[in-house]
Amino acid sequence: MPETADVIVMGGGLAGCECAWQLAERGLRVELHEQKPQQRTAAQTSDSLAELVCSNSLRSDNPLNTIGLLHEDLRLAGSLILRLADAHRVPAGDALAVDRDHFSQAVESAIRQHDHITVISGEVTQLPLERGLPIVIATGPLTSDALAAQLVALTGQERLAFFDAIAPIVADDSIDHDQVFAASRWGKGETDDYLNCPMDKPQYLAFVDALLTAEYLPLQDFEKGVQYFQGCQPVEVIAASGPKSLRFGPMKPTGLDDPKTGRWAYAIVQLRAENRHKTAWNLVGFQTKMRQADQRRVLGMIPGLANAEFLRFGSVHRNTFLDSPRLLDEAMRLRSCPQVRFAGQMTGVEGYVESTASGLWVGLRLAVELAGRDLPLPPETTALGALLHHVIDDSVPEFQPSNVHWGMMPPLDIIDGAKKRNKGERKAAHLERARAARDAWLAAWFPPRSA
Ligand SMILES: Cc1cc2nc3c(=O)[nH]c(=O)nc-3n(C[C@H](O)[C@H](O)[C@H](O)COP(=O)(O)OP(=O)(O)OC[C@H]3O[C@@H](n4cnc5c(N)ncnc54)[C@H](O)[C@@H]3O)c2cc1C
Repeated sequence: MPETADVIVMGGGLAGCECAWQLAERGLRVELHEQKPQQRTAAQTSDSLAELVCSNSLRSDNPLNTIGLLHEDLRLAGSLILRLADAHRVPAGDALAVDRDHFSQAVESAIRQHDHITVISGEVTQLPLERGLPIVIATGPLTSDALAAQLVALTGQERLAFFDAIAPIVADDSIDHDQVFAASRWGKGETDDYLNCPMDKPQYLAFVDALLTAEYLPLQDFEKGVQYFQGCQPVEVIAASGPKSLRFGPMKPTGLDDPKTGRWAYAIVQLRAENRHKTAWNLVGFQTKMRQADQRRVLGMIPGLANAEFLRFGSVHRNTFLDSPRLLDEAMRLRSCPQVRFAGQMTGVEGYVESTASGLWVGLRLAVELAGRDLPLPPETTALGALLHHVIDDSVPEFQPSNVHWGMMPPLDIIDGAKKRNKGERKAAHLERARAARDAWLAAWFPPRSA
């Protein structure tokens, strides 16, 4: 029987629809599998493709924020999702918020009316590897159990997570470096891999008290009854198990000589470099469901972090995602089985727009590849490139999903040779550099067609 498809895409969410669209627009025949309407995830309430399961906002549309810059990248690269989000925009200040029903219906119509896309309803439980076609898996944070079991078999148990445990990340230049010291525990490894924020006993007790009285986001119904792995427990769960628990857990001071006192502090918060440029630092072990305003207030009590700029807030949710840096190449292909590639939240990007961006990249890259050409990742200095490089950056030992943020980009100093003075100037310089790199990349790889 002749094949009626060139590519199989699984999951009709934001990433799957964007990916299918990019492929179809380049003349490839796509089979798009979506489990709705027969089956929904615990977060879904509609039968449409591209459902926004929670907020109706695609966040800031201001390019001085990295997410706004990512919107711009997606628009210029021809994203279906961004075009239809713009078309169904509702007033929301500088945020890109949409009428969720009209938006999803518009995506659904565009996909169903495309000559090259066939939507097939029903849960995929087996990967059709025997068909020999490229398969893109974009089944999202709540991938169905049967498919997840197949993926475990393909990737290995320890490389597919079902919960994230996201610790906050702060910008290096917002840390008061006079209050922290660089040292690795017991002097192992590179000295400046960690920054240490020392606390005395009254500071520690006040901090634990603030943690215990902060406000937390409620668990979703489908998250209740979860047993956290020991190393992934939210910091508030550890704090609630006893006043000294943090001091014997993530805030353990042993083996860390404070150069100011020559002794170990009463407790320590460790910050681990989040990227090789050391422009961003991860609060080790501080995964939390604390509300963001309280994260600013409570974590601001940590010495050195009073004025911290949070590039990413901590969170803990049900989330199916891969250890992408260890599994995927830059085309988001599974190295051990290149017929299969992943897109969307499963690759460890976080959020509607980032998932769309991932779907766009995988679609573009696969289409170009099937035409026998090459397409390099967008430069790391662009929002799209920074996000994609982050997903496959194996210099980060414990991979966790992330929204896009400035800390994913190389520091300006190295590129520009000049230190930018304040946050506003730095953002403007990042934006200028990112736009120039993006425009050059698009011009080189997607030159405008002559009339
Ligand atoms: C409860 C919850 C709230 C969230 N709130 C927000 C928010 O407010 N803002 C934000 O930016 N992000 C939010 N997210 C994250 C957001 O859902 C994702 O970033 C985004 O939707 C991911 O896009 P995706 O295409 O990768 O996956 P999805 O949008 O989830 O799409 C995956 C699709 O695959 C289908 N599918 C799953 N398994 C199978 C199978 N076996 N066979 C066939 N089809 C299958 C699903 O039905 C779904 O339609 C939230 C996530 C959850 C779980």
